Amino acid sequence: MDDSVTKPVRTRIAPSPTGMLHLGTARTALFCWAFARHHGGQFILRIEDTDRERSTEDAVRVIIEALRWLQLDYDEGPIRQTERLPRYREVIERMLADGTAYRCYATPQELEAMRQAQMARGEKPRYDGRWRPENARGRTPPPGVAPVIRFRNPDSGEVAWNDLVKGPIAFSNAELDDLVIARADGMPTYNFAVVVDDIDMRITHVLRGDDHVNNTPRQINIYRALGVTPPAFGHLPMILGPDGQKLSKRHGAVSVLQYEQDGFLPEALVNYLARLGWSHGDAEKFTRAQFVQWFDLAHVSRAPAQFNPDKLLWLNGEYIKEADDARLAALVAPRIEARGGRIEGAALPAVMALLKPRARTLNELADEAMLFYGPHMIDPALLGQHLRGAAVEAMRAFAARAAAIAWERGAIGALIKQLLAEFDLKMPQLAVPLRVAVTGRTQTPSLDAVLALFPRETVLARIAAALACVPC
Ligand code: GLU
Repeated sequence: MDDSVTKPVRTRIAPSPTGMLHLGTARTALFCWAFARHHGGQFILRIEDTDRERSTEDAVRVIIEALRWLQLDYDEGPIRQTERLPRYREVIERMLADGTAYRCYATPQELEAMRQAQMARGEKPRYDGRWRPENARGRTPPPGVAPVIRFRNPDSGEVAWNDLVKGPIAFSNAELDDLVIARADGMPTYNFAVVVDDIDMRITHVLRGDDHVNNTPRQINIYRALGVTPPAFGHLPMILGPDGQKLSKRHGAVSVLQYEQDGFLPEALVNYLARLGWSHGDAEKFTRAQFVQWFDLAHVSRAPAQFNPDKLLWLNGEYIKEADDARLAALVAPRIEARGGRIEGAALPAVMALLKPRARTLNELADEAMLFYGPHMIDPALLGQHLRGAAVEAMRAFAARAAAIAWERGAIGALIKQLLAEFDLKMPQLAVPLRVAVTGRTQTPSLDAVLALFPRETVLARIAAALACVPC
């Protein structure tokens, strides 16, 4: 596929602020961003907010926040379409004047009747051109009807482009009718505004979801009517859920910021999205810099991509393992607090270092960290079950000698081993009661490491409290 690039590359992401930022939009943004960065070009954020009823300020914030979280930095924008209404009007006036657009006074009832009649005749419903200037000659506009503006689509010939992902695509003009480019209230429609914007913003490569393939020939015709060479187009394959259906809420979170809340690291999500419909050999895990270096449209797949939540979890776990402990601590602290934990005693970065090899999300890290920061409760039944026989004596000895050792993992482990030998116990016979006394749980990561993270006084106080309740 030819994506050889000569001019400075400019790409854009153009979401409509009508809800969350969907994973599909994030993937498109990532590819547009990577393509621009790969070619040393620019990436632009445009907010397509002409649908005033459905667009909200909250959704604009969500878009900006999600791009910030994913670190998809843009060079220009956000540019809002609603700021550009005078510009669209100006272009429409020009098109009305040169005959590439015209006013159409057909009422919704009339259009519906036209549709019904066409269907009854077994034809595909389409606007029949009744208000084209040559057909409307001599007719006076009906009073009280605010006209829409229609684009005068060419009647014959073909619209073709070499899609950067899908290869050559052609539509016959006979299949396209005169689309509305401005509504009766003057608001431009998507297919028109997108062309004016992409021209004004000097976009060189339009990369977007393949649900837009049918819009592209209409847009190319508008470029031609305006005397402008269209940009290159590349349509990215859809993202399907694990069941092969279009990705939706049924498949779990589809909002980018939900992934932040669910404890994913942005680099893991970026890496995962990069692999949805693009590949570099069999590389699964790579850095953002590698992605920018490797990214090309030739390796974007034509076939739909399949979302696999387990793989994303695995990848997130890999990134958590290698994440810096202080960074993890900062990300996990609010999650611990949200669980009612109080971060004191054990140093959080050290706790992260202990727990991160087994956590797949920041939320799992927070759950596990509650071992250190959750309220300590003595469970007499559990203690009674485990604190008996020689274990009681061994635990007393542990408390007595623990005061005199260096408070670190190696020395604590050595003391435990020594006591096992002295009291002729197997590891679980001492480790489990110690765990229960200090953490209230029967299972924890390696006991010596866990004890070393608690302050010595805390461990000794908890052991004393447990022993004081013997026999529980
Ligand atoms: N607002 C459109 C969308 O979100 C933009 C499509 C395009 O990139 O042209 O689907």
